[in-house]
Amino acid sequence: MQYKLPEETIMLQDTVKRFVDNELIPLETQLPERPNSYELPQDLYLELTGKVHEMGLTARETPEDAGGAGLGPLDNCIVTEQVHRSTAGCSVFSASFASMLYELGTEEQKNKYMVPSVKGEFHGSSAFSEPVAGGDMAGIQTTIEEKDGGWVINGNKCWIFKANTARFILVLTRLKGTQRHEGMQWVIVDADAPGFKVGREQKMIHGQSTYELFFDNCWVDNKQLLGKPGEAWSSGTDYLFSGRIQIAARAMGIADRCLEMAIDYSKIRHTFGKPLSSRQAIQWMIADSAIELHTCRLMVYDAALRAQEGEKVFIQTAMAKIYATEMVAKIVDRAMQIHGAAGLSDETILERCYRDIRPMRIYEGTSEAMRSMIAKDLLRS
Ligand SMILES: Cc1cc2nc3c(=O)[nH]c(=O)nc-3n(C[C@H](O)[C@H](O)[C@H](O)COP(=O)(O)OP(=O)(O)OC[C@H]3O[C@@H](n4cnc5c(N)ncnc54)[C@H](O)[C@@H]3O)c2cc1C
Repeated sequence: MQYKLPEETIMLQDTVKRFVDNELIPLETQLPERPNSYELPQDLYLELTGKVHEMGLTARETPEDAGGAGLGPLDNCIVTEQVHRSTAGCSVFSASFASMLYELGTEEQKNKYMVPSVKGEFHGSSAFSEPVAGGDMAGIQTTIEEKDGGWVINGNKCWIFKANTARFILVLTRLKGTQRHEGMQWVIVDADAPGFKVGREQKMIHGQSTYELFFDNCWVDNKQLLGKPGEAWSSGTDYLFSGRIQIAARAMGIADRCLEMAIDYSKIRHTFGKPLSSRQAIQWMIADSAIELHTCRLMVYDAALRAQEGEKVFIQTAMAKIYATEMVAKIVDRAMQIHGAAGLSDETILERCYRDIRPMRIYEGTSEAMRSMIAKDLLRS
């Protein structure tokens, strides 16, 4: 195992770190209202995304010939970690579904949906969760069947992130009459497709709101089917799995920032005539946080490096996602404890981080689903 990051990766890390330190972290206190990750004022948003574009980091996981940065999983992790050191980060370094469209899409689909998404002209959403099936993805019931020279979709989805502003939705359906893993099909549905409707907002923690979607005899043309007919489980769902390592990297970025804040605050806050940093109870919280963050980095970088070298890393990725998302919860919590009331107020970003991290143990594979996957692999005879 080789844990020394390559030279170019360290340079990339430094570049993004400088950008986050100089451009994003100051925003957290300068804006009249604390920035919601997804709602920076439009002029500021355009200015910052322009800078990200100049750094060559727009659509960072998308191959270069499709207009992206073409970063491999390790470099992508390094960037993700730095970006998430600021609560303003994810608004300017947004993810896209370009990789999935790149691998599975026809030339026409790439030109219509992928190229503009990579340029940031519009965005899509991905919809697999349903009221009857979330973690159990093979249980989805939204159907697709051939009709009138095209295809008709019926069913509904829920918890779909950014669906209210999406120009298109990648919808996971099943060919009518099929069960479980068979007959699953991704379809690209335009926001104005007949029979498609975005329903109510499902308000979530700190503005990561999601939406219900309804498909009532929603008709789409043949050319909207994405990937080989009925083979979505074996192709498209890989993209959902590969995102898990990036969630672990997000968790590390937040943990890194909260640990840094805990250290800084413990040096300036005096109680009973001494700085908090002189108290063993505080030192141990800081030491434990550093140990857990370091352990996590080794796991995450290892999984990302293996993935970059072409290895299938479902199990290592599942381990990294569990560890990172549980590690960050402990580190944010300790940082809040060290800050006392200030940590729970809106005078620091800690209360925001506290909320930001909670969904990570649920979306893109719950901790329980990840543990089951690891155990199944170990117990296979
Ligand atoms: C902020 C946010 C954004 C989201 N965005 C999207 C999106 O854009 N698109 C999309 O399609 N979905 C999205 N989701 C939905 C997400 O993918 C699902 O919430 C997730 O897959 C879990 O499904 P569920 O909520 O139905 O929980 P369930 O699958 O019902 O599970 C409920 C609980 O039971 C546990 N559990 C389930 N089965 C077992 C078992 N066999 N053994 C032990 N424990 C079990 C789970 O681990 C979990 O703790 C989003 C969710 C959140 C929180």
